[in-house]
Amino acid sequence: MSIVLYKKGEEALQRPHEETIMLIDIHGHFTTLPESVSSFRNAQIDTFDKTGLAPDIALPVISDKQITDALESNQIRVMKERGVDLTVFSPKASAMDHHRGNEQTNVVWTKLCNDLVHRACLLFPQHFVGACQLPQVSGQPPRDAVIEELRRCVTAHGCVAANLNPDPSGGYWLDPPLSDKAWWYPLFEELVALDVPAMIHVTGSCNPHFHTTATHYINADTTAFVQFLTSTIFQDFPTLKFVIPHGGGAVPFHWGRYRGLAQDMGLPDLSEKVLKNVFFDTCVYHQAGIDLMLKVLPSENILFGSEIFGAIKGVDPTTGHYFDDVRRYVDQSEHGTPAIRQQIFSSNAQRVYPRLKPFLACRAC
Ligand SMILES: [Zn+2]
Repeated sequence: MSIVLYKKGEEALQRPHEETIMLIDIHGHFTTLPESVSSFRNAQIDTFDKTGLAPDIALPVISDKQITDALESNQIRVMKERGVDLTVFSPKASAMDHHRGNEQTNVVWTKLCNDLVHRACLLFPQHFVGACQLPQVSGQPPRDAVIEELRRCVTAHGCVAANLNPDPSGGYWLDPPLSDKAWWYPLFEELVALDVPAMIHVTGSCNPHFHTTATHYINADTTAFVQFLTSTIFQDFPTLKFVIPHGGGAVPFHWGRYRGLAQDMGLPDLSEKVLKNVFFDTCVYHQAGIDLMLKVLPSENILFGSEIFGAIKGVDPTTGHYFDDVRRYVDQSEHGTPAIRQQIFSSNAQRVYPRLKPFLACRAC
């Protein structure tokens, strides 16, 4: 094992990390776009709410320089500081907004967001590869418009994954669970056909009980896992893959509960029932959380993710480091070995995201 030295601000850090590993962060969002993008969405929805019709508003014009400035001073700066080579990059999740508008407004909005991510990937192919937002709508099964946008992003933009919202109602859980065949299976069929995983990712909460990132996200992660556990989704789609972000919500901490539940229900062990198809990222933002993940979950099911930029912005006063400097926790975990870090930082992502392969080959040449 070699030691790599690199700078973070004024501080020279020494981290045990294998030089040859390509470090892939599977969870990043384009959170730093100019305000004209969110202003467009607000104007679109304001008109829709008043008229019930999708307005014909001009799309915001965003220059390459604006995209470059937004990324170089934020996501790319942080990636370089932390030694992250490549980020699977998707539109800002809390702005996906599936609970607002209708199919027509959400298709326009989703295309705009996905096209901006695609432009970021074209401008910085060495740093970003795309994952797409889907134009889901609360109360409506994900059908032609969703499937068409998924296909467009994967086949024309080179997206390697999609973000799937299990609760387009924004915290009220009005739509059927992921096990509902009539509702969800056509989308699952397309994910399998395109060979792309879906990250479970809700958007903003409009239920005042649930803070978007602190509660709604974590609820959704846990809810999706239990729906996978108690359904026949992976018997029906043996090659379908999901990534549950934010460390899998409550799952690792309550692993015994879920193992016991499976046993009580006469289900196969979790290794058989879900772990061939379900993976977890490392966005938990503290050392003990990462230690627990590495201790409890099989290392082949853990993927490096930090959800930059801006999910949690501050510095942890007890460590002096940014909460979202997730690599530090993985590097320092007593449950990690060079082989395990290699899995978490790189090889698991390459296995779970098969469409990453051409991007990796390109970088090697
Ligand atoms: Zn996210």
